[in-house]
Amino acid sequence: KAKQDGRNTYHHYDESLDKASENKFKMLQLLRPALSEQQFELHYQPIVELKSGNINTLEALLRWPQPDGSMIPPDLFIPLAESSGLINELGSWVVRQATQFCAQLRQQGHSDIRIAVNLSVMQFKDGQLQRTIESALYEAGLPPEALELELTESLLIDETEQIQKQLASLSKLGITIAIDDFGTGYSNLGYLRNFNASKLKVDRSFISPLCFSEHDESLVGAIINMAASLGLKTVAEGIEDDETLQKLLSLGCDIGQGYYWSKPLPENALIEYLLNRNTLSGGF
Ligand code: C2E
Ligand code: MG
Ligand code: MG
Ligand code: MG
Repeated sequence: KAKQDGRNTYHHYDESLDKASENKFKMLQLLRPALSEQQFELHYQPIVELKSGNINTLEALLRWPQPDGSMIPPDLFIPLAESSGLINELGSWVVRQATQFCAQLRQQGHSDIRIAVNLSVMQFKDGQLQRTIESALYEAGLPPEALELELTESLLIDETEQIQKQLASLSKLGITIAIDDFGTGYSNLGYLRNFNASKLKVDRSFISPLCFSEHDESLVGAIINMAASLGLKTVAEGIEDDETLQKLLSLGCDIGQGYYWSKPLPENALIEYLLNRNTLSGGF
């Protein structure tokens, strides 16, 4: 009896595992055609200078809309694109698409707007990254200063030398580098200087509880001060309300991003958002 129970348990476990890997496998098979059939979209979220309220940068975020109207979130399909080797092609598409959109906005009068693109560390492995980026900028007619690259802190621990060399070369061109999700890894700020970063994006998990705990407040305050002493600007991710915004201003935070201003929006909605903002503030 015990033996049979054991086998049943095993069988059950096996089945759910099968289900999970079957779903993964299905998604994997759909990824490549999705890319060649242009099913992916980029949405854009404003990044705001807290004191002036100016939008200086837009972060490009990948979306994979489904026939039923739902969206597969990037946290699900990007790891699959990485493990299947598709991430380089997908990442190149993102850079080309985002730079084209940035150029379009500049032509429409948003002459200083910049674009931020998330990179996977896998994209540093084939030695093609700089060429891909340079040709995207050239084709869009954008200066390198229009582009920011975001790299997740916790992923910068492996193969650092290879990444550091490429980042040094990219930042020499005028492209800026931001460390994403700061606080989720274990690196100290001094170490991060080796990546030529000019910005630190403090992870949302530190920002949302900011109004509730003094501990979080002094932690974020310390990060902002240390970053400033190293010449880095701090970006707070995930600002959702005015209370959090005021707190961050009082802590000396430079830049923010979050639903308080806008969720990531498709191209047309973002253009409309920028126009409304300029009308409200009597802008250009
Ligand atoms: P991330 O780069 O840290 O992007 C910020 C995430 O926080 C986005 O999630 C954004 O929608 C969300 N967010 C922004 N403001 C708020 C807020 O006020 N409240 C809440 N609750 N969430 C907020 P999203 O779009 O689901 O992207 C998840 C992650 O997927 C990104 O995190 C990034 O690491 C990755 N990702 C997205 N697009 C790309 C891409 O083109 N390439 C690569 N390699 N990774 C990407
Ligand atoms: Mg990011
Ligand atoms: Mg982040
Ligand atoms: Mg992230």
